[in-house]
Amino acid sequence: MTLAGANTLPDSPEVRQYNRSRRWLEVGDLVLSFGFLIALLVTGWSNTLRTLAQRWGSERYVLSLFFYVVFLSVISKILGFALDFYGFRLEHRFNLSNQRIGSWLKDEFKGWVLGLVLGAFLAEIVYALIRISPQYWWLIAWIIFIGLFIFFAQIAPVVLFPLFYKFVPLQNEELKARLVRLGERSGTRVRGVYEWKLSEKTKKANAALTGLGNTRRIILADTLLENYSNDEIEAVLAHELGHHVHGHMLKMIAVQAVITFLGFWAANEVLHFAIDEQKMFFNLSDFANLPLLALVASGLSLVLMPALNAYSRFTERQADQYCWKCVANVGPYITAMEKLARQNLSESHPSRVVELLFHSHPPISKRIAAAQAWAESHRPSLAT
Ligand SMILES: [Zn+2]
Repeated sequence: MTLAGANTLPDSPEVRQYNRSRRWLEVGDLVLSFGFLIALLVTGWSNTLRTLAQRWGSERYVLSLFFYVVFLSVISKILGFALDFYGFRLEHRFNLSNQRIGSWLKDEFKGWVLGLVLGAFLAEIVYALIRISPQYWWLIAWIIFIGLFIFFAQIAPVVLFPLFYKFVPLQNEELKARLVRLGERSGTRVRGVYEWKLSEKTKKANAALTGLGNTRRIILADTLLENYSNDEIEAVLAHELGHHVHGHMLKMIAVQAVITFLGFWAANEVLHFAIDEQKMFFNLSDFANLPLLALVASGLSLVLMPALNAYSRFTERQADQYCWKCVANVGPYITAMEKLARQNLSESHPSRVVELLFHSHPPISKRIAAAQAWAESHRPSLAT
């Protein structure tokens, strides 16, 4: 039990304050985006913006819808900018960021453009379907969205992530050899391991399994590669491999597919109610109803968030167990977790409520305790 050191100590005031501020930021973001959508609908501004967009788009539907999405995107970026900036300052206040303001502004801009392009593209698809098939648009849109999820999951590591971070193939030969061994033991081939140049932006460390099919890869932050022993990095790799072996990427897409189905079905019902009973919009293809569609979708995601987080924590526990089985000894896993918690200012002991509502990963203290319990029951001679 000697490795339990940091695990049994309570979180420092600094850690508690940082995480509290981050949570307030998340809640503030939610309140702002819901408030914005509700305000658009209640005040009738959505109709005003639609009329303006139609004028700019010379009454051409596709162009008018594009302008309408641009308006919403610009206004919400302006409204949310103060919170985004507070988030940037917060990382600096706790000495977690390596990013200068210029680089941050560039990322914000790129993120905004990306969001706008994607948002406009999705809105054009949805409203084209509404016009083509007013009855079954939501069902067809659902099928197309699932196709797009899979497509984006596949291109993300090669097209989207490189917009913000540099990636280079892992150079460390010893680690590469260990990874091949890990893969052989689990009967799978790891297609690639990349060094993720996270240190240009942050002092935090991270690792992930990304992509699908031929873009599937493990990415390891340079901030992790620099400060962790090969045994510790192997434990992290084994955890990521566990996600792959359990097919978590596809399972997550399946879960998203179910939620999206519910979302489109509910959106169709709510839109019909708003049009037929409340006379809020002219008809389904009146894109002034877009905020209502977005409200139903985000409301549903919010309500399901604790369940999604619970599912995510379950997959993390599965990946952890896979890791403990793969590595010779759970010691490096435990020290890697302790280092990660310290480096990222993660809470090791969040309250139960915070864990249930916000955390996609089990708290580090529980992960370490579970690793020790596993080692004691499976490898008593090696337990430390
Ligand atoms: Zn994981």
